[in-house]
Formats: sequence, structure tokens, C-alpha cells
Amino acid sequence: MRRIGFPWSPDLVTRALASAGGTLAAARDAVETGRGGTLAGGTHHAFRDEGSGYCVFNDIAIAIAELRAAGKVRRAAVIDLDVHQGDGTAAIFAGDPDVFTLSLHGGSNFPFRKQTSTLDVALADGTEDAGYLEALLPALDRVVEFDADIVFYQSGVDGLAEDRLGRLALTREGLAERDRLVFESVSRPLVVTLGGGYADPIELTVEAAAQTYRMLAAL
Ligand SMILES: [Zn+2]
Repeated sequence: MRRIGFPWSPDLVTRALASAGGTLAAARDAVETGRGGTLAGGTHHAFRDEGSGYCVFNDIAIAIAELRAAGKVRRAAVIDLDVHQGDGTAAIFAGDPDVFTLSLHGGSNFPFRKQTSTLDVALADGTEDAGYLEALLPALDRVVEFDADIVFYQSGVDGLAEDRLGRLALTREGLAERDRLVFESVSRPLVVTLGGGYADPIELTVEAAAQTYRMLAAL
């Protein structure tokens, strides 16, 4: 409970299972139609054997494992643009040549003990749109080169300047440009998960996340 940060309850069990199941369903949609999304998930701090940082199970890892076991995909990539490092995802797939994990995150933010992704890009506190997008472009090129059968996008919007936990200084327009670059670069089945967002007022987070899903729906 201390590491996860939620009090234990039957509702939490239901929520954690539904969230992981939602990402799996979105991944199956993506295999069939080219895209899928869930308004939850992206619980990237969960490790193989324990939860952490508001994350109980690692939904993206579960979906990748299930699709591979079913023979639907062989290689997968994870584009994790939540402001916090995707440490659980990185650890779960460390040493796995068929999964590329990209994490672009605040270098001094949680988790304070970082794991090693296939590609980590650590950003300084206060990074603005221009610096962020400049760092993102070459990282996306690496994902494209990997040529996965399916790509998961953890689209957390906690890089927003008004976010209470983010420490970056991105605008809503900057986040829209970020999403556009991701959607334009990925030509494989794409799965979008929600990730984090803690703005004050929270409506700013909701609006930023909604614009991601509107863009996905318009693809
Ligand atoms: Zn986050």
C-alpha cells in the first residue's frame, strides 16, 4: 500500500483489473483495425512482482505478453511520454530484444531510482515546448527504425506547466504537437493509454488528455 499509494479495497481490485483489461481490449482493437485506445491505463510504474506510484499492474506489459502468447505480434514498442519514467515497463522488458521501450521524462522527478529503458531521454526541470519537441524527434526516429508490429503510447499529460507533479513547462499546444508527431511517425497498429495528469485546476489535465483522444479518433 505504501509503494502503490492507494488504500487497499475491493473497489481498487476491480479498478486495477478493469484498467488492465481495457488496455488489452484496446490492443486487440489495434491489431484488428490499426488503432485502439482506453481512457485509463498507462500504469507504467508497476513491476512484474509489485506495484508502485499509483500503479497496481503494468497494463501495457500485460497486453504485450498476451498478444505475443496468442501469436498476434512478435515485436512491440512503447512510447512513454508521461513526465515520470516508465520504470516498471523498462524493468519488465530489460534484455528483451523484441520490445523497445522509450521513456522521455523529467530527470529529477519520480521515480528517483531510475531503471534502464531501451532509450531514456531525461529532461531538465522547466523544459518548454521547443526543447521538449527537439528531444522527442530523434527518439521517435529510433522507435520507427525498430519497426515493431504494434506500438503502445503512454500519453500522460503531466508535462503541462500547470501540473502539480510534473516540473516541466509544456503548453497544451505543445502537447498537441507532441501527439501529432507520435501519430504521424507510427505507421503500425497503435494503442493509446491515458497515463498521468495532476493539473490545478484538473480541467486543464482533462482538456489536454481529451485533445489526445480526439486526435486519435480523427486518424
Ligand atoms: Zn506521470
